[in-house]
Amino acid sequence: MPPTFLDLDDEIILQIGDILHRDNEVPLPSFEPHWAGFEHSINPEIQKDSLSLRATCSRIKGLLSVKDLHIVTRQWSDIVLWNQECPSTVKQAVKRAIIDIPPEVGPLYYHWDEDHDLQEKDYEQILSVWTTLITFLSGLISLEELIIIESPLCRHFPSINIREHCLIPLDDILPALKSLAIECACMDCSAELPRLLIPTIPELQHLKIVHTYFEHLTSISANEEWLSRHPDKAFIPVETLAVKHRPNDVDPTNERPVMEDVLTCFPGIEELYITGHTEENNTPPQPTFILGATRKPADGLGEERWRFKPISEVEFDENGCYDWDVSTSGEDGEWLLTLDSLGAFKQLEVLDGVIEIVLPTRTGRLPEEGYSAGGTEYMSQRDDARSCFLQRETSVEEMIEAMRAAAREMVDHVPSLRKGYFWQWPYSEQDGEAELKWKRWTWTVSQGGRIEVDMNMEEIAVDNTKSLDGEQLRN
Ligand SMILES: [Zn+2]
Repeated sequence: MPPTFLDLDDEIILQIGDILHRDNEVPLPSFEPHWAGFEHSINPEIQKDSLSLRATCSRIKGLLSVKDLHIVTRQWSDIVLWNQECPSTVKQAVKRAIIDIPPEVGPLYYHWDEDHDLQEKDYEQILSVWTTLITFLSGLISLEELIIIESPLCRHFPSINIREHCLIPLDDILPALKSLAIECACMDCSAELPRLLIPTIPELQHLKIVHTYFEHLTSISANEEWLSRHPDKAFIPVETLAVKHRPNDVDPTNERPVMEDVLTCFPGIEELYITGHTEENNTPPQPTFILGATRKPADGLGEERWRFKPISEVEFDENGCYDWDVSTSGEDGEWLLTLDSLGAFKQLEVLDGVIEIVLPTRTGRLPEEGYSAGGTEYMSQRDDARSCFLQRETSVEEMIEAMRAAAREMVDHVPSLRKGYFWQWPYSEQDGEAELKWKRWTWTVSQGGRIEVDMNMEEIAVDNTKSLDGEQLRN
């Protein structure tokens, strides 16, 4: 009789079960920076084949344990069912979860409108939703990755202050969690959820969060709370941080620097991704820096070398010419300050702040108002200005040389840096923004300490770099 599948050794069957379970192919963290709206990798389909194999007979069922499950909760009744009916063995097998519960399928008694006059019983119901959610999460003791897209707590009227009613759980309810991504479109949830959850996660290593000008990085208070609960640790052990920065269009002077907050909360980070997005969620990222580059010697003589300066600071002459005069301005203070603040991150290895390098032009004029104009107006002015750059052809070699020099300055200040990225806005007029493509260049530090810029830059459609926080059904 020919051998059958069941003639295989237990060990081989276990290996086949592992290969069929495609969680192995999903990295941790699986979230992407805010500009990258790829589909989520957390998907219950991933365990389907493994579970089917397990269901074939009692021997295989006994061999293959239920593990590394992916779950996506899309309505409040899912959460209630998990709490009431799910066996603890299944709860304990969940490795990755998405919570994506919009108000229309949220808790029934939570459907208040803005005119609702809150009664005492309503506060009890807010507390009840929070308690139910905490019960759900605390049952997932093996949960390693959590993404929250829409929160069932999302109701914020002036008369409702959820922070007064939702208390941070006393215990570490997410003991195995390593990766937390808050991807809510709602800024109140983006500010509130990290404050409530981070203190309960002892081993948090990867975090995706929003830096809002009104709440700063909410993790400032979360950080203090976390430290008071884990006095044996010097800081939250976050290694990967993706931050969406929402600049203050109304009062830029009242803006707290993102880097300062990041350093306060997560001094041990190794990978940092900062993406600036305006109030309109559906806009492409704004570079953290548009870095003007010039190769002039400071005194008109001397050694020629690259110098850099944030371009919004560059002065234009009466003809609208940008040609940074290093002989009068000398070294640029703001760029050096940025490098110094980067230097405080002693373990930083990978940096992508959507930094754009622009070479001198005789024709371009960027809007001088900077962020003080409204977001949409500023973007429009800036894009008009950018099209002026068309008139000066920049050679790829010259651009790469500038990028290599800028990367060198960063590595000199942050010796742990190993990799980074520079972005280039598409200075060409095509049919509609959807056709435009960013160029994203990768630079690395070679074994010998040399900066190498990969000639194979990525081309990414501008349309695909819009922040998709809060967008449902991305898997
Ligand atoms: Zn909300």
